Amino acid sequence: MALFRKKKNYIPIRPAHKSPASEGPQVPDDMWAKCPSCKHILYRKDMGEEKICPNCGYNFRITAWERLALTVDEKSFSEWDTDLLTKDPLDFPGYVDKLEKIKVATKLNEAVLTGKATVKGQEIALAIMDSHFIMGSMGTVVGEKITRLFERAIELQLPVVIFTASGGARMQEGILSLMQMAKISAAVKRHSNAGLFYLTILTDPTTGGVTASFAMEGDVILAEPQALIGFAGRRVIEQTIRQELPEDFQKAEFLLEHGFVDQIVPRMALRQRIFELVQMHTAKGWGSHD
Ligand SMILES: [Zn+2]
Repeated sequence: MALFRKKKNYIPIRPAHKSPASEGPQVPDDMWAKCPSCKHILYRKDMGEEKICPNCGYNFRITAWERLALTVDEKSFSEWDTDLLTKDPLDFPGYVDKLEKIKVATKLNEAVLTGKATVKGQEIALAIMDSHFIMGSMGTVVGEKITRLFERAIELQLPVVIFTASGGARMQEGILSLMQMAKISAAVKRHSNAGLFYLTILTDPTTGGVTASFAMEGDVILAEPQALIGFAGRRVIEQTIRQELPEDFQKAEFLLEHGFVDQIVPRMALRQRIFELVQMHTAKGWGSHD
């Protein structure tokens, strides 16, 4: 009966992470973060309010509300179009439930936050996209909010500043998402014709239909360090052109080198740079044509 003897001597090994809650200290899940760029494990507090990797300088993805707090003057923000609600035009399975959950989690009504604010006293029309809201994808309401942002900016004679963060068009709204690219671009052009300044700041990730439209239409285009910026994904391009792409392809630094981005600005310096650029393009004598 060798089989039974073996069983008698078998001692199961319990994995350490399965120890009951009463044993040993508890570590909160959100205490540590792994840097997606240098792969270092970081103590979250060391990343500071700006959420920057102290090891390699990677700018972590932040929410629209966190971005707002880092960018504008305190209590200067008034939000626009909070009552625009996303519908489910294609009757896409699970879309309505997904929207409801994400709205609660992000405290946003859509993947972009728009409104008016001041940066060091300079008044701007501002949009901030949030990659935590269905990957910052652009559906009809995102498109409409950004279009209205430009239209109001024309009425109020304001410069527009947009932080982009997007996985592209929203597949749950199909062709209606793609139409937003042309609609926003037309509004950008009207804003430009009115002699007003438009600044885009590309953050990680800015891809798909957003890159192919308003993200790249700014008068000045800034980017955060190491941000992923592109249209189609790497694998799709490699399969199409049958060539291997460089390692840093679609990184902000690569785009700067090839002329698609005007400057890479670390998050710490962005508020000051926005102020300088807006002031330069709106102060009397700079932008006036009379
Ligand atoms: Zn890092």
